Amino acid sequence: MKAIRRLTVRTVLPQPLRGLEELVLNLRWSWHHETLDLFRSVDPGLWEAVRHDPVRLLGEVAPDRLAALAEDRRFLRRLEAAIGDLRDYLTAPRWYQALGADGAPAAIAYFSPEYGIAAALPQYSGGLGILAGDHLKTASDLGVPIIGVGLLYRHGYFSQSLSPDGWQLEHYPAIDPNGLPLTLLREDGGEPVRITIGLPDGRDLAAQVWLARVGRVPLLLLDSDVEDNDRAARDVTDRLYGGGTDHRLLQEMLLGIGGVRAIRAHCRINGHPAPEVFHTNEGHAGFLGLERIRELVDEHGLSFDEALEAVRAGTVFTTHTPVPAGIDRFPRELIHKYFGGPAGLPGVPVERVLALGSETYEDGDRTVFNMAVMGMRLGQRVNGVSRLHGVVSREMFGGLWGGFDTGEVPIGSITNGVHAETWVAREVMDLAAREVPALMDGHGWEGVLGVPGGQIWSVRRVLRERLVLDARRRLRESWRQRGASEAEMSWIDDALDPDVLTIGFARRVPSYKRLTLMMRDPDRLRALLLDPDRPVQILIAGKAHPADEGGKRLIQDIVRFADAEDVRHRIVFLPDYDMALGQMLTQGCDVWMNNPLRPLEACGTSGMKAALNGGLNLSIRDGWWDEWYDGQNGWAIPSADGLSDSDRRDTLEAAALYELIEDHVAVSFYDRDAAGLPRRWLEMVKHTLATLGPKVLATRMVRDYVRDLYAPAAASARAMSTGSFAGARELAAWKTRVMKAWPAVAVDHVDSTGDESPHVGENLNVRAIVNLGVLEPDDVAVEAVYGRVDDTDSIVTPAHVQLTRDGAENGRVRYTGEIPLDRTGPFGYSVRIVPHHPLLAGTTELGVVAQPPDPPGMTNGDLR
Ligand SMILES: *Cc1c(COP(=O)(O)O)cnc(C)c1O
Repeated sequence: MKAIRRLTVRTVLPQPLRGLEELVLNLRWSWHHETLDLFRSVDPGLWEAVRHDPVRLLGEVAPDRLAALAEDRRFLRRLEAAIGDLRDYLTAPRWYQALGADGAPAAIAYFSPEYGIAAALPQYSGGLGILAGDHLKTASDLGVPIIGVGLLYRHGYFSQSLSPDGWQLEHYPAIDPNGLPLTLLREDGGEPVRITIGLPDGRDLAAQVWLARVGRVPLLLLDSDVEDNDRAARDVTDRLYGGGTDHRLLQEMLLGIGGVRAIRAHCRINGHPAPEVFHTNEGHAGFLGLERIRELVDEHGLSFDEALEAVRAGTVFTTHTPVPAGIDRFPRELIHKYFGGPAGLPGVPVERVLALGSETYEDGDRTVFNMAVMGMRLGQRVNGVSRLHGVVSREMFGGLWGGFDTGEVPIGSITNGVHAETWVAREVMDLAAREVPALMDGHGWEGVLGVPGGQIWSVRRVLRERLVLDARRRLRESWRQRGASEAEMSWIDDALDPDVLTIGFARRVPSYKRLTLMMRDPDRLRALLLDPDRPVQILIAGKAHPADEGGKRLIQDIVRFADAEDVRHRIVFLPDYDMALGQMLTQGCDVWMNNPLRPLEACGTSGMKAALNGGLNLSIRDGWWDEWYDGQNGWAIPSADGLSDSDRRDTLEAAALYELIEDHVAVSFYDRDAAGLPRRWLEMVKHTLATLGPKVLATRMVRDYVRDLYAPAAASARAMSTGSFAGARELAAWKTRVMKAWPAVAVDHVDSTGDESPHVGENLNVRAIVNLGVLEPDDVAVEAVYGRVDDTDSIVTPAHVQLTRDGAENGRVRYTGEIPLDRTGPFGYSVRIVPHHPLLAGTTELGVVAQPPDPPGMTNGDLR
């Protein structure tokens, strides 16, 4: 008989061991080796059996073992030390506390639909979640006062296995929050906090809030599986990225609107300062901006436009993908249904909501509501996640700032990073601590160059062997599930080899990642694997989205190839890619391969994990690798990304990949000196660690966010809110006035002196006569734009210089200024008028500009 309800009965720990509970309830254990060691010593066998999940460990450990530990003085001393260390970690001042209170926000809310904190908390599907987890952990390490917000999915993301013929099977094991390191957020009186959201048919969607402690960072997870909800409402948080459009929208309303309400409850109950900055990751949480507008309208009497300004100033929006399928778009009618009726947000008219998400640019679809577009309109600061992704995003979304060249679109970038303590193998950490002690403080990376190659090589051997053993265990489990008998599995004992060049390839399986590119020429791949002198082994893992039949076919193609008797000891597909397998792979592989269709990989982070463990990257120059590949830290697979024929592109890129592996990767791996060491290889590894190490760390990333986005956003938000939101009121009124008057604003005349025979180093005197209509000179900035011009007279990478007001002429305003002729060759300039207000983040923010109809004053001569 099936149980109708599942509970986790917690162990009552003997008094001396109560501290274990405190340790378990803070997820810091997931990246703290000493605490993990302590858990292991509770029961080493069980620790392996429960896959390093301490809640399960404590749930299943035998009472007599607990009784013995309660008497074990040595264990108790270690326990006490671990608790003392955790408390220190939670309270001591860290990097952020040294910044001083002026710039630094009192708190930052971080919203993401998924979080990858630990394999035992399966609330992530891929890169976005892992990044969010690493962001929170790093914020904790640096003392950044972040509050994370997400949803608790009762079935998380699916776990994957294979059918006998290699087809992906999905399982959704139900999780019991009581069996996870979570506590329920409760009112002072003890009753659980209830968040509710009104629905169009008069129903309420209710949720409770789970609190996960990620070191110093609280993570609030909303969960709609509560008794007051009907079946449909209870299922809103049933699984990650499942269900239809309505379901998706409800999840996002709960995340955005409910998330803000959960933060308010948390701050009220726990005396936490209110966030000054809200960081939205991808469009999914975008409704948080609407809820904050509602609050301001409701509690401070602001108009929608005034509230919008106040909210925008304190909002950071990060776009995480250039792939259209990764961006949420809803039919406009659906938005109408949920935000239009009496259940909509008071003070937030549905027409305004619809306008925020409408694709008003050329090629935009007028029938959809675009969450990313809304995110950009609701956030004064927007960024992509690598330099190249910044470029691509400026092109993709440039239409929102129509008046400006792509280069000036106000979308910046902060390249992602990874949390070292989570991803770097213990052995590598120990080697670093021994050989490069300065590294422990985050500098002195060049010290890696002096580490003896033999020491690195022996650590690499340990990690490769561990991976091989773990892969054999996983293979055996997978073959057993697929129906193989023991006799059919004896080959697995010798599958893979701890001394063979090991290539890893693991990621989600959307088509742009091209899981099967390596199989483009199966004979050539077979030859690589079976090379008698320089063999290669490949470990592959990845999940296809449950609705993605194409992706499942790719997995099946790989599995079928890897099932063949002649190659199965050299190429394996390991099911159920998760954080634990990710750690094993990125630590144990010599080479981390990635071959996306450039430029669709926004950043990618798995290759960073490999690099920090002494692996080398072999990748298309996309995402982070485009930025930091330097010719010596790995290999770049040439991309044929100009080619429109995708089939031919695959063939060319696959051929280049084989060639690189044969002629370069395998050659240098197997080129050994008298001591048996691959000298050249180890030089590359050291160079990689020394130069990439400091860049790929999430500490670099989080510091960048604090300095470039959070602190400026907090300053903007304060400028809006002080004096009963005087700034927001003023800016909203100003914008309305300026936008109304803008059509009359024009550059009427431009001339210059000094352009007869210009020489580099001289200045050009520019004069412009402009018509400001009803606007005041203070409302605008008049700028000269100048620089090198191309064959079409376009100014390439333009520089700007502000012109100064120099009197009036017939109701027009005269501006003058000097342009430095700072380069030889073809040079040009123009003049433009942009809106100017001290509360804007930049001159392009409003997306409007007035320029001369025909750029006059072009001095298209050569400068000498
Ligand atoms: C690191 C990681 C990712 C993200 O890596 P990409 O390089 O973006 O593919 C996804 N899933 C898991 C389990 C990871 O560990």
